[in-house]
Amino acid sequence: MKELLDFLPEEYGLSPKYLNNELAKFVYQKYIDDFSDATSLSKALREQLKSEFNIMPLSLKIAQTSIDGSIKFLFSLHDNHTIESVLLPMKKERIENGIKKSAKYTICISSQVGCKSGCSFCLTGKSGLIRNLSTAEIVAQVLFIKKYAKIPYEQGINIVFMGMGEPLDNLKAVSKAVKIFSHNDTLAISPRRQTISTSGLAKQIEELGKMNLGVLLAISLHAVNDTLRDELMPINKAYNIESVLNAVRNFPIDARKRVLFEYLCLGGINDDLSHAKALVKLLHGIKAKINLIYFNPHEGSIYKRPSEEKVIAFRDYLQAHGQNATIRQSKGLDISAACGQLRNNEDENAKTSL
Ligand code: SAH
Ligand code: SF4
Repeated sequence: MKELLDFLPEEYGLSPKYLNNELAKFVYQKYIDDFSDATSLSKALREQLKSEFNIMPLSLKIAQTSIDGSIKFLFSLHDNHTIESVLLPMKKERIENGIKKSAKYTICISSQVGCKSGCSFCLTGKSGLIRNLSTAEIVAQVLFIKKYAKIPYEQGINIVFMGMGEPLDNLKAVSKAVKIFSHNDTLAISPRRQTISTSGLAKQIEELGKMNLGVLLAISLHAVNDTLRDELMPINKAYNIESVLNAVRNFPIDARKRVLFEYLCLGGINDDLSHAKALVKLLHGIKAKINLIYFNPHEGSIYKRPSEEKVIAFRDYLQAHGQNATIRQSKGLDISAACGQLRNNEDENAKTSL
């Protein structure tokens, strides 16, 4: 059995060709999950599709709503591994100058089960890499969530590859998913609304750049010198800060856009103003946007959440020195939204119930 979500519409292989597009619209725009509901297709074709393709490669295990409205999903895969995704409402429906403006959403998705990068602050990294997700498993997270939350097809959404896993370590499946998301007959999400976040695999950043997909790039920087970054992110030993920044400088990006730098603030480790000063120097000449993230503590972690004053002072310093800097609101902290935490809690529960 093949997974339909692994393919671009033109690869479904139906003839005449317009049937491919019609089928894609049923699945991605009318949210059908059974070929029988693709009523404009002939009965014979529906039967053929049923015997050839599966539509949804994952099933929902838990959906947890946070007080801020974000919803965290834990999905089961065919081999019983689990992955997480999050739906983050960015803006509520509102009236502006008498015009009804629609709500805005961001969907955060996973690219691997586990991760081999082993960052010292990250729960996902603790389990090592279990396996890559297939294109279908990546695409399905967005499709499932849009359908679950009853987000109309026309509603624009943003996609961020900031869930579990290192997207650039699964570049083939991820790049195909980007193409599927942006196809006009599927979800039609412009690549400029899709952000790939990486721990800094310089070689793969160059490779992604060459593909010219038009996606946005986010770099998890977290440290301003190699000694500290080596300690926090072992991948830095293979690709040090300079090599990552060189790859960023070569990355094709829309003139109106910026490269996002994520900076995880760890209390007492990298949240001092001397680090902010070094960061300004480091990013000189790069069109950057800096997003400061509060460390989200988890059981067994050796780091502390930084104080609010420190993070605000850090941001103010960056802004005063010409950088575009914001603090990421810790959405869904009450449902342990930092990557890997819901999955881990669930595993712990499973253990205690044995
Ligand atoms: N592997 C990719 C994308 C997934 S991680 C990457 O590292 O960029 C998405 C973001 O969550 C990264 O910036 C990562 O550093 C951050 N993160 C990991 N653990 C965290 C924690 N405990 N608290 C806050 N952010 C965390
Ligand atoms: Fe992997 Fe990203 Fe976690 Fe590092 S922060 S272990 S790269 S998922």
